[in-house]
Amino acid sequence: MAEIIDGKKIAEDVVATVAATAKDLAAHGVKPGLAVVIVGEDPASQVYVASKSRKAKECGFHSVQHTLAGGTSQADLVALIEQLNVDPAIHGILVQLPLPAHIDSGAIIQTIEPDKDVDGFTFVNVGRLGTGEVDSAFVPCTPAGSMLLIERVRGRDLSGLTAVVVGRSNIVGKPMANLLLAANCTVTIAHSRTKDLPALCRTADILVAAVGRPEMVKGDWVKQGATVIDVGINRIPAPEKGEGKTRLVGDVAFAEAAENAGSITPVPGGVGPMTIAMLMANTLVSACRAAGVEPPR
Ligand code: NDP
Repeated sequence: MAEIIDGKKIAEDVVATVAATAKDLAAHGVKPGLAVVIVGEDPASQVYVASKSRKAKECGFHSVQHTLAGGTSQADLVALIEQLNVDPAIHGILVQLPLPAHIDSGAIIQTIEPDKDVDGFTFVNVGRLGTGEVDSAFVPCTPAGSMLLIERVRGRDLSGLTAVVVGRSNIVGKPMANLLLAANCTVTIAHSRTKDLPALCRTADILVAAVGRPEMVKGDWVKQGATVIDVGINRIPAPEKGEGKTRLVGDVAFAEAAENAGSITPVPGGVGPMTIAMLMANTLVSACRAAGVEPPR
């Protein structure tokens, strides 16, 4: 039976280290500052933003939330970001996506100062990661957290391991593949047009599923002893819990996959908690750079 990778516990460890380092930074006169910007009333986004702000406070950060009306213009949003870009109390800026349809999200993201882009979505940070400059990049939080989970079970040296990443989104699949490549894995990115996905997955020492399809990756797609990272978060009906009830599952058929895997993340409690933890870690790194202090690794 596979080792279950406890993302909740590892995320708590990350947050504890971040909070301790944030305390030490006070001696340098720096308090990490995170600004979260939300436009409109999307209930899911409001929940995410509230939990990010809460976690920032838990880490001892200066936490600022800008809640703008749904009708806010592109120009007004750009003006706010430009103000945050030059605010010395702010080290990380996060614009909660999705933005209302009248706003050009791509253009807004590129307005963020790359050295405060703690989501890692600006071209500068994508380019840093893509050229292997991992230490100077801000890496998107979900793949960064997934990588930390992989390192916890396989160590930092992943040289020569075969990795398959299923999914090629800009926020998960592609940066995940770049991180694994930078760690000297032999990496294949699979997507909806990939032929014979099960056979490809069976080659993987490290298999990352970031697809958004409930339990798509079956047990017999998993190589014996592989590390399986399930990024997917899918809500499916759970009639066994009562009428109208739902439950969360990943992109991997967990019970089957766990029979072959050496280690595997559960859903919930695997990659999910790492995402917010890495947002805090990225903000701390930005503050450390501002203070001229070596960030913790
Ligand atoms: P996207 O929808 O942006 O990308 C999904 C990818 O999966 C695409 O590249 C798509 O291929 C590929 N895909 C879809 N169907 C298949 C298939 N049948 N076979 C192979 N590949 C397929 O999703 P995200 O990357 O944003 O998210 C992926 C999952 O991760 C979702 O469940 C999401 O909820 C979850 N997630 C979890 C986070 C966390 O904090 N744990 C954070 C972010 C996302 P193609 O490009 O060809 O269309």
